[in-house]
Amino acid sequence: MERKILLPEEELPEAWFNLIPRLPEPPAPPLDPRTGKPINPEDLRRIFPQALIEQEMSPKPWIEIPEEVRKVYRLWRPTPLRRALALEEELKTPARIYYKDESVSPPGSHKPNTAVAQAYYNKVEGIRRLATETGAGQWGSALSFACRLFGLECTVYMVRVSYQQKPYRRTLMHLWGAEVYPSPSERTEAGRRILSQNPETPGSLGIAISEAVEDAATHEDTNYALGSVLNHVLLHQTVIGLETQRQLSLVGEKPDVLIACVGGGSNFGGFTFPFIGEILEGRLSAEVLAVEPASCPTLTKGVYTYDYGDTAGLTPLLLMHTLGHTFEPPGIHAGGLRYHGDAPLVCQLVKAGVVKPRAYPQTACFEAAVLFARTEGIVPAPETSHAIRAAIDEALKARETGEEKVIVFNFSGHGHFDLSAYDAYLEGQLEDYEYPEEKIREALERLPKFPTGI
Ligand SMILES: *Cc1c(COP(=O)(O)O)cnc(C)c1O
Repeated sequence: MERKILLPEEELPEAWFNLIPRLPEPPAPPLDPRTGKPINPEDLRRIFPQALIEQEMSPKPWIEIPEEVRKVYRLWRPTPLRRALALEEELKTPARIYYKDESVSPPGSHKPNTAVAQAYYNKVEGIRRLATETGAGQWGSALSFACRLFGLECTVYMVRVSYQQKPYRRTLMHLWGAEVYPSPSERTEAGRRILSQNPETPGSLGIAISEAVEDAATHEDTNYALGSVLNHVLLHQTVIGLETQRQLSLVGEKPDVLIACVGGGSNFGGFTFPFIGEILEGRLSAEVLAVEPASCPTLTKGVYTYDYGDTAGLTPLLLMHTLGHTFEPPGIHAGGLRYHGDAPLVCQLVKAGVVKPRAYPQTACFEAAVLFARTEGIVPAPETSHAIRAAIDEALKARETGEEKVIVFNFSGHGHFDLSAYDAYLEGQLEDYEYPEEKIREALERLPKFPTGI
């Protein structure tokens, strides 16, 4: 029995898979925050390169991966699909568990799949510097890495609580040559306003996005790069699902359950969309689970409406599940999953019932992560542990029913920079945060009052 299914470099996908033209309903357009009307793509030119604006709403079913991007991908891609044999034995489950290992990239997660593509398109269009935000530091390190390879400068606004909790991610960004500021910072209008209201704020992804967008919009030679949520980001991540389809077919398997964690939705979308294409065409019947933290329960408890992507209300309004753009989630260790909204494409699939959302508290996830590390050996990122929890629960359910289910999940990244969180868990110091109903109600009252058209 194979423990890992590998593809040769020549089988690296040649095109990204675009879900948009295959959806039963076209996605709702982003709205201009000033007018409440669909945005004029021209307005995005201030912060994004033309190629990415086109990809955002492209009707083409496949989008060719530039050769320069494939050349960088080949540093670590195709990634292994692994069979979790030891975990299966430990769980005494008849289920077969596979995981796609995106932790083997140099920054240690799936994020460079899009960082490399975004740096490339910006470089080609003459941009000199990229500005971005980062939560736990994975996106910031992925973009720093990608900018370095294409000779771009990189400025990262890092959520303050992570800046303090994760000094080694900061080191990694510095190592790849980026400049890193704790957010909110004094460098932007948005940052200064929030600091004056609440000097002790832990920061949030929404605030950091406001800062990075402002930086890009106010500098001619600088663009903005987003690590998740937008359609073009999910598009670039589909190399994950495309490789997984090929690898499963090599061992004659079809998935019954597909699982990934959701922060903004990019590893989830990248892993599941090629399979969801098969589901929508009636060629595959599988359950698709989107797993989020109970302390930031966007898909399970948020409302489906237009909201801003950032805290200051600078970005276009997106139709998505949201906890309200002013929601500041508690400082849990899965920093990459602390976002008030989710990718509109993922939300649309949840709304349509194709994807089922599920939320777990963090200690249950760390318990799953430790079991995984003690069987399969790899230390998961706290974000990834949410997918592992769900995979383990599905495998235990299969033990009850005796079904030989094929469970496939995306292993979005390793946890080598999260060892202090593991220390806290092993010492019994990790807490589950109460779901702050009150805070979410307040934030929802501050939702923008625009005609939503839905
Ligand atoms: C950033 C990150 C996530 C969450 O982001 P998505 O856009 O939802 O994928 C999950 N896992 C890891 C390891 C990450 O770095």
